[in-house]
Amino acid sequence: MREMTDPSASIDPPLILTSDEHFMREALRLARKAARLDEVPIGAVIVHNQRIIARAWNQVETLKDATAHAEMLALTQAESALEDWRLAECDLYVTKEPCPMCAGAIVHCRVRRVIFGCPDVKGGAAGGFWNLLQAPNLNHRCEITQGVLGDECVGVLKDFFAEARRRKAAGLPHQKGAAAKTDPEGPVFDGP
Ligand SMILES: [Zn+2]
Repeated sequence: MREMTDPSASIDPPLILTSDEHFMREALRLARKAARLDEVPIGAVIVHNQRIIARAWNQVETLKDATAHAEMLALTQAESALEDWRLAECDLYVTKEPCPMCAGAIVHCRVRRVIFGCPDVKGGAAGGFWNLLQAPNLNHRCEITQGVLGDECVGVLKDFFAEARRRKAAGLPHQKGAAAKTDPEGPVFDGP
C-alpha cells in the first residue's frame, strides 16, 4: 500500500505557487526593477486562473506620462491578454495601495480582488484615505486584501526615498522619480 502521509510535510511546508505571497513576490520583483530605472518603485501583476497575465511597473518618468502607474499598465495588458475589458475573474496584486486614478480604473474593469502590500494613508483609495474600490454608489466593488508581504513592500519604497535623500545631501542628481515626490509641494505620497 502506498504511503499516504509525508512525514516531512510538517517540517517543510510545501511551496504554494498560487498563494498571495507568491504573486506579491513577483510584483515586488517588478517594483525593484522600477527602482533600478529611477522610477518610484511600485510593481503590479494581474492573475487569471492562477496564471499571471500582466506584469508592470511604474513608468511615469520613462514614458513621461502621469497615468503610467503600474496598475494602469497592468490593466491594459490584461485586457489585451483576455481580449475583453471585463476583468471580473482577475485579481490584481500591487506593492502599494492604489491611488484614486488606478482605483477608478480597477472598478471600471471590474477586477474581482485587489491585493496590496504597503498602505497609503495619505493618498490610498483602497481604504487608506478613500475607499473607491468598495464605494456603495459605484456599480462594482472589489474584494480587498492588504498587508501581503507588507514589510518588504514598505521597505522597497523606504530604501528608494532614503537613497533620494542621500543623493540630495551629497549634492548628486536624484532619481527622476524621486524629484517630484521629495518636493514638499509635490504629490501627496512621499514615502511611508
Ligand atoms: Zn495609481
